[in-house]
Amino acid sequence: MTSYTDLGLFIDGEWSGGSQTVPVLNPATEEVLGHLPLATVADLDRAVAAAVKGFAVWRSMPVDQRVAILHKAADLLASRADRVGRIMTLEQGKPFKEARGEALRVANTLRWDADDARRAYGRIIPSADDTVLSVRHEPVGPVAAFTPWNFPAGGPMRKIAAALSAGCSIVIKASEETPGTACELVRCFVEAGVPHGVLNLVFGDPAEVSRHLIAEPEIRLVAFTGSIPVGKLLAAQAGSEMKPSLMELGGHAPVIVCADADPVVAARKAAFAKFVNAGQVCTSPSRFLVHEDVYDEFVTEFVAAADRVVVGDGLDDGVTMGPLANPRRLKAMEEMVSDAVSRGAQLVRGGERIDRAGFFFAPTVLTGVPADALVMTEEPFGPIAPIVPFRDLDAALATANSLPYGLAAYGFTRSSSTAERLIRGFEAGILSINHCGGSVSEAPSGGVKQSGYGKEGGPEGLEGYLVTKRVSHLLA
Ligand code: NAD
Repeated sequence: MTSYTDLGLFIDGEWSGGSQTVPVLNPATEEVLGHLPLATVADLDRAVAAAVKGFAVWRSMPVDQRVAILHKAADLLASRADRVGRIMTLEQGKPFKEARGEALRVANTLRWDADDARRAYGRIIPSADDTVLSVRHEPVGPVAAFTPWNFPAGGPMRKIAAALSAGCSIVIKASEETPGTACELVRCFVEAGVPHGVLNLVFGDPAEVSRHLIAEPEIRLVAFTGSIPVGKLLAAQAGSEMKPSLMELGGHAPVIVCADADPVVAARKAAFAKFVNAGQVCTSPSRFLVHEDVYDEFVTEFVAAADRVVVGDGLDDGVTMGPLANPRRLKAMEEMVSDAVSRGAQLVRGGERIDRAGFFFAPTVLTGVPADALVMTEEPFGPIAPIVPFRDLDAALATANSLPYGLAAYGFTRSSSTAERLIRGFEAGILSINHCGGSVSEAPSGGVKQSGYGKEGGPEGLEGYLVTKRVSHLLA
């Protein structure tokens, strides 16, 4: 029996409860894991005041000292990857191996961001007169961040690592559905010696918390990961206060498999990426456009790969796909399948909830899906793969780019010139050719079009948390 963890709000260096709580469910069993306290308005005000105080301390701490604390937090997290992974699986459902891997990966993200903070170089510009003209980068200030439930460690850590490395303080509202992992991350930072007020964790009614925090004058940056409609709302709220924001929103990633690609290899790689985290990934491949010459072979191998997926409780050995994280996703999957079938698509595999406790949905393959089906126009965010044939590559690219989103895109081809055509043609911020690459610490991830703006990862990730100051210094 794996025990869950203590849940709480973390404000100004102290854990606290609250009079109002919400239950946290295990999506594999529907059992209650714990009760999460929700922040009151007074708690949020305390968190902002703490972040202001914490910012003053943290920004003036020598960079070596800051980096050492962040590395210690990363080491603590890595040493607890088993425990954090189990908590993550309990509350989110993903297989333990994926969850443990996520904990280790985000420890590396923290190390990478912390080291990159040493390189937040400014520059000195030769000037026309007696002034010394320089450009400096400084932390933007206290940050308000909001993260979802699909990567319970990755979501919060991306924001905390970048903010703290840049010298900012943060008030983060992690998901109320996966709060245990966020609490565990915070414990690592606390034990590593992050000063009071630098890192504050709250939970509450998402709309109320975000409205309140974004309106606070002391909050200088808004960072959000989640759906496009919520992202637009928060960006508008930030814009009305003239605050910068970073928006990591959804997508609907096309996969183009060209006539010269190996359809078996492409199908295996694409199916693996499709069913990771039960498809609840913003960069998940979600529209499969396959050249008619290799279509049948691709579909056969993709279906075989779907059949090899072992669905079950993520804590059980051998399970490769857990439940969906919440009943909203189950309902969305059912709607998308019935809409596609009613429009003439063929349901080749899955298509329904699995008859057992928990929010399990079968790996699903649809073929011949019409372009106007819901699953082709709205992000499925679940284990559904719609596959359609194409004849002309330009037409396939036009289909790929026809939606208002542009997060990830994938192409399979053996020709370098076709690869270049895809690279130039895809309207997306994250491209992979001949594989389905995941996000990495050292390179930026982020969307174009309605998939948002700002980057996470790489030097660009840190830039979002810095402001630029031009200094013209006339020597006295
Ligand atoms: P949702 O839009 O209700 O919520 C998405 C996330 O935003 C949740 O964590 C939620 O707590 C938070 N949220 C909602 N309203 C908010 C507000 N006013 N202020 C601050 N945070 C707010 O959707 P959902 O049912 O949780 O997820 C469904 C859709 O969300 C998916 O179809 C997918 O498109 C999107 N999503 C995207 C990501 C991503 O990584 N980009 C992650 C999770 C969900």
